[in-house]
Amino acid sequence: MLAAAPAPRALTAEALGLPPPGEARAQGLFDRYGRSHGYLRISVIEKCNLRCRYCMPEEGVPLLARDELLSFEEIERLATLFVRLGVRKIRMTGGEPLVRRGIDELVARLGRLKALGLQRLAMTSNALLLRQHLPALRAGGLDAVNLSLDTLRPDRFRAITLRDGCEETIAAIRAAAEAGFDKVKVNAVVMAGVNDDEIVDLAREFAREHPIDVRYIEYMPFEGNHWGDALKMFPAASIRGRLEEQLLLSPLGLDETAAMYQAHERDGRAFRGRIGIISSMTEPFCASCNRMRLTADGHFRWCLLDEGEIDLRGPLRAGATDAELSALIEAGLARKRPGHAPTEELLSLQKAAGPSGARSMIRIGG
Ligand code: SAM
Ligand code: SF4
Repeated sequence: MLAAAPAPRALTAEALGLPPPGEARAQGLFDRYGRSHGYLRISVIEKCNLRCRYCMPEEGVPLLARDELLSFEEIERLATLFVRLGVRKIRMTGGEPLVRRGIDELVARLGRLKALGLQRLAMTSNALLLRQHLPALRAGGLDAVNLSLDTLRPDRFRAITLRDGCEETIAAIRAAAEAGFDKVKVNAVVMAGVNDDEIVDLAREFAREHPIDVRYIEYMPFEGNHWGDALKMFPAASIRGRLEEQLLLSPLGLDETAAMYQAHERDGRAFRGRIGIISSMTEPFCASCNRMRLTADGHFRWCLLDEGEIDLRGPLRAGATDAELSALIEAGLARKRPGHAPTEELLSLQKAAGPSGARSMIRIGG
């Protein structure tokens, strides 16, 4: 079975086993369903040095004016507030975080939040510029990197990202594995007929001999990203099927959003890294979602697949106190739904919001 559209499912609190809204009340960042939110993803830039077709609209995204982007001081102020409110893990993303000028300094600033209770600082990157930053990122306190690569073939890399860089990305992933991070993960978005024939190759390339986790992500619909026309989803069940045609997989349970597996070759050789499958569309993990997002222009978002967001930059620049900003964050979190809308509804919500209202993945921060 290839590229079947996910069956629409109603992600109600009841269906997800969550308590009815409002019943759960506790210290920290909790939503109305009792989900604790200890994980913040901060987009540090909307710009990117690649043009992945599944992420960015063909015409590109309008560039933020310089003063629309949060400054390092503003990111640090908000990140500090989130850590005081209970965030224990921060991931920098984008756009491409390594394109942001001075990124090493920002990493060092956020690394210092470990003194306030932050436990883990991570980054998601396309790895193109990674090698030159590795020493500074490690020194600044970066614990882990998720590196995105969907294909091992340079021609395909160009067709997907509209740029060259396949060899450099592969070299950077290998270098990261030697750089002393707690964890290096490779993320591949799988699209039917585009790269689904490389699922096993990617696992063997990175996870067999190296302690690198390879994770496959179901392609998700976003404003202007070719969902349903040029690009089609390859569902999680088919990803697993592809792997099992050649490898033996034993389930290891859930790691955040990914169903994890130990892989073996059929001759018994164990892989050093693990395999993960992220089924955001066909088997959403909303019931255990602990994520919040801060966009590069300072908007707080409580769900990747919900158009709701609250501006924190305006109040921050107008002199809001920490208590006032906390109240805005809590009000946003209170709007978080038990689960994201079914695919058809998502598409019509994005359509209704239009290109200026709905954010493409690159503008939300993946
Ligand atoms: N530029 C960095 C990178 O590519 O890793 C960070 C930002 S990117 C938006 C974060 C992650 O989102 C990447 O792993 C990317 O593959 C994933 N992504 C982008 N568009 C997606 C889509 N439509 N469906 C699923 N994952 C997507
Ligand atoms: Fe850039 Fe990452 Fe989006 Fe690709 S997935 S266009 S690398 S932000």
